[in-house]
Amino acid sequence: NKFEQLGLNESLLKAILDLGFENPSEVQEKAIPLLLEKDTDMVALAQTGTGKTAAFGFPLIQKIDADNKNTQALVLSPTRELCLQITNELKNYSKYEKGINVVAVYGGASITEQARDIKRGAQIIVATPGRMQDMINRGLVNIKNIDYCILDEADEMLNMGFYEDIVSILSDTPDQKSTWLFSATMPQEVARIAKQFMSEPVEITV
Ligand code: AMP
Repeated sequence: NKFEQLGLNESLLKAILDLGFENPSEVQEKAIPLLLEKDTDMVALAQTGTGKTAAFGFPLIQKIDADNKNTQALVLSPTRELCLQITNELKNYSKYEKGINVVAVYGGASITEQARDIKRGAQIIVATPGRMQDMINRGLVNIKNIDYCILDEADEMLNMGFYEDIVSILSDTPDQKSTWLFSATMPQEVARIAKQFMSEPVEITV
């Protein structure tokens, strides 16, 4: 099992066994060792279906401090469907890691319930930009101390008109976090976000 050579811990390897993944995909093989090795910014050009969720999800789960109940990571994704899918995946990845809570935040559902779930202690928030901005405005969430920010399908988020929300949300996070940006394409708006909010990102392409 080549996952063992990427530096993943026992609880993740066990979860991967349950998922039935036999070998890492190309983006996983490239991203996982880099992300585990040091806290770096990363720009990854990868389409949907390449296994990108696990490429950021496995290292993220390994890096979260389960004993600390504060929000440590924010994953932004373009749609409610993707938001729920990523949340579900991260829960599967962390099933043998006691005490990691992942909460999905998206529009069209009760903001009160989402706020309550966050208050109970969500180390990882997976959010759509519009609802996330709404929750920040209402003081229902604190992302001022996060260590990791993942922008998934960045080109899609910008296509959907979330530029202002993304800029505003990222401005609310600390400078010293690591940012991992995944995108299928690299239009100017995505490059602009990367330039403004990331420092010397390693780049991978699949
Ligand atoms: P994604 O690109 O993250 O949307 O993943 C696409 C699909 O591939 C998902 O259904 C994953 O469960 C699956 N997948 C991801 N990584 C692997 C792997 N290493 N081996 C087999 N299936 C995988």
